[in-house]
Amino acid sequence: MGFEFSDRLKKLPPYLFVEIDKAKRKARSEGRDIIDLGIGDPDEPTPQEVIESLYKAAQDSKNHHYPLDQGSSVFRERIAKWYGDRFGVELDPEKEVLPLLGSKEGISHMPLAFLNPGDVSLIPDPCYPPYKGGTIFAGGTPYLMPLRQENNFLPDLNKIEKSALKKAKIIYINYPNNPTASTCEKGFLEDAAIFAKKHNLMVASDAAYSEVTFDKYRPGSFLKVEGGKDAGVEFHSLSKTCNMTGWRVGFACGNEKIISGLAKVKSNIDSGVFNAIQMAGVTALDISDKHLTRMNRVYQERRDALVDGLGKIGWNIKKPKATFYVWANLPKKYKSSIEFAKVVLDKANIVITPGVGFGENGEGYVRFALTVSRERILEAVERLGKLLG
Ligand SMILES: *Cc1c(COP(=O)(O)O)cnc(C)c1O
Repeated sequence: MGFEFSDRLKKLPPYLFVEIDKAKRKARSEGRDIIDLGIGDPDEPTPQEVIESLYKAAQDSKNHHYPLDQGSSVFRERIAKWYGDRFGVELDPEKEVLPLLGSKEGISHMPLAFLNPGDVSLIPDPCYPPYKGGTIFAGGTPYLMPLRQENNFLPDLNKIEKSALKKAKIIYINYPNNPTASTCEKGFLEDAAIFAKKHNLMVASDAAYSEVTFDKYRPGSFLKVEGGKDAGVEFHSLSKTCNMTGWRVGFACGNEKIISGLAKVKSNIDSGVFNAIQMAGVTALDISDKHLTRMNRVYQERRDALVDGLGKIGWNIKKPKATFYVWANLPKKYKSSIEFAKVVLDKANIVITPGVGFGENGEGYVRFALTVSRERILEAVERLGKLLG
């Protein structure tokens, strides 16, 4: 049959993780002992309290119906309270908070609410792929802002071309950052708010990793800086915060107009998050401090095992202050991140993600995810030592 994918589907960059997953499954089917430092999905289970909360809420038949388009008021109020406690930001739970089917959903739907064909989104590169995907689905054009090591992986806002800026409606920022694991100072968030106001841009601040932090580092909220709430929204996820990637629950907070546009798109596409999961989300926020104290210690030990271990074999990397990733320059001998990742899979049975999979400016790097045990990380380091030694 002559079915054709739409032009917008054809325009999507290839989703690299699908390719990596294929290679990984093939290697596993051959019986090889694979250490997967590829995709960023917490290895530990969802906290028991959250599971019990879901179980209880699922028993209640009033949770079996379509959720409200704007989400349950109990969950919205809990999110607003969490924002106040954690970031010192006051939010109106009616108008400034929106539960999402995972933050990826909101991140990729936002352009549908605000971009017309030909409009531009300003997108960091390398980046989490849905910024580009969502923009392309909305008929918009991604304009890439390179994240360079010499600028601490911050976009240089002054280097954005005037012609792109004129057509730009949305700017994505993401700190703590995936894939580079970099963080930003409050000054950058302030600059972004000023820049957005000057150029009439909406800021989409992806804060999925705001709670996965080490060495006492505690990032602030974009909504807390002057003009933040006028300029944008912030996306949060319970996926990384509470080991809940499979549950599909996150939220957007901030600018009322943006929240209402996003809610309108959602009410026409999905019908919101299962009420029982929203109740479990309330519990997740209740217990997140306790859970994170333990989980962040675990990730920090793994980070230290990896970075210290690689340092000993002559591969020197700066320790990240947040996220469960380590972003590393390729060893000198290698130029292509895909080629290097292939060698590492073939020769050392380790999955890592080639930086170029996150965008052209990710070339020259690979990303390690700290989502296996410390023992397995030590084993990976040993194998890499043999490979590179
Ligand atoms: C994992 C991740 C998300 C979102 O995950 P959800 O499961 O959809 O909430 C958002 N942004 C970045 C950068 C991520 O790595």
